[in-house]
Amino acid sequence: FRFRIDPLGRSPASTAVAVMTLTDLTAIKRMERMRADFVANASHELRTPLATLLGFIDTLRGPAKDDAEAHERFLAIMHEQGSRMARLIDDLLSLSRIEADEHTVPATVVDLARIVQGGADALAPLAQAKNARILVNLAQESCMVRGQADQLAQVVQNLLDNAVKYGRPGGTVTVTLGPADRVPDQAPAALRSGPAVVLAVEDQGEGIGREHLPRLTERFYRVDGARSRALGGTGLGLAIVKHIVNRHRGHLAIESVEGRGSTFSVTLTLASS
Ligand code: ADP
Repeated sequence: FRFRIDPLGRSPASTAVAVMTLTDLTAIKRMERMRADFVANASHELRTPLATLLGFIDTLRGPAKDDAEAHERFLAIMHEQGSRMARLIDDLLSLSRIEADEHTVPATVVDLARIVQGGADALAPLAQAKNARILVNLAQESCMVRGQADQLAQVVQNLLDNAVKYGRPGGTVTVTLGPADRVPDQAPAALRSGPAVVLAVEDQGEGIGREHLPRLTERFYRVDGARSRALGGTGLGLAIVKHIVNRHRGHLAIESVEGRGSTFSVTLTLASS
């Protein structure tokens, strides 16, 4: 340890400094471990599709050289693996950009109702492909919040994308935007002191076990890794949502009942008009 202590060990001030330094070192160690884990996870996630790609290139050059039918099939798989790497890189870049400006609150005022409607329209084809539908419930035609439009659109998109992906085929995803009746106690003080708005995305999927809820917004945390990957997931969607909500000094709450579905609620401060 890098702290000095009173040789007689009696000074309360020295003890306080020692305890504080010890706590700081533990926090730094934890951060370092998290960073190392993140790099290891990201490399592994990129290496897997890359290995598949290289394997297929070797097959196409060798044993399947003259097999036209195999060419078609393998190229489709290679395209999918390449797309997966591109999605992962996009998400990693988003995450690092958001982290870089997490300490500055956005200065612009944007209409969240428009962003929600835009997100629902964009995700409609994905829902249709699963015979599902997205129902939009807006309490008011417009809803002004202080925020960055692109980032709030990403929150809406990631939550709707998950609700459709993990929702019930043929079911309904409901996105609701309206005044927050109650701001959670854990929310930032600034959020509790003024009028707030809540964006809720509700699905009728199989839900999430209670034990997973606290870890869901960690990078690369998945309840079922194979399923997430098969559905095109990167494991970063909710980590991105959490960072954007933090930057907006908002609050993210996740409620889920196994066998019934999940609701992801984002509470944000209403911009004063
Ligand atoms: P992914 O790309 O794997 O979907 P996310 O960070 O968006 O990554 O979500 C993390 C994990 O949380 C998912 O792999 C899934 O297990 C779970 N999850 C997220 N949204 C839902 C939902 N609406 N219903 C059930 N599980 C969900």
